[in-house]
Amino acid sequence: MECEICGTNIKGNPIRVTVEGTVLDVCSKCAQYGKPQDKWTPVSRKMAPTERVIVTHRPKRDAFDKLEDEILPDYAQVIKKARESQGLTIEDLASKMMEKATLIRKIEREELIPEDTVRKKLETTLNIKLTERVSSKDQRGSGFIRGTTLGDVAIIRKKGK
Ligand SMILES: [Zn+2]
Repeated sequence: MECEICGTNIKGNPIRVTVEGTVLDVCSKCAQYGKPQDKWTPVSRKMAPTERVIVTHRPKRDAFDKLEDEILPDYAQVIKKARESQGLTIEDLASKMMEKATLIRKIEREELIPEDTVRKKLETTLNIKLTERVSSKDQRGSGFIRGTTLGDVAIIRKKGK
């Protein structure tokens, strides 16, 4: 191992210093030219905050929200019954909703699952509810979510209090 400043062969461990932003391994004589570098500081900075950041910002929140509201399996029946009980034809309903009758027809035939905006219009126009809250989130492949958050949440609670 040679000193990176004077080129002397270093016996034992070189001293790591920073000279104008460059990290050099130097001999004990040249160590005075640079600032001693604490090599442990950047490492611990890198390791610690990553997991805490993930939990604080809760990026998985959207996934949870999507899992909670599911369209009813018999949405087509619910729509049809509500529509008929109000004496509306498909055309009537469509014009109330400012949508095409073919769209409503497809939805009632279960050929199409209404997208959120259409679903909301159906709900308000017919005064019905087409979603249900899914209580058993665990059955819906959320294993990876629990795996990553559970331990982290425990860490946060410890540190928070
Ligand atoms: Zn040297």
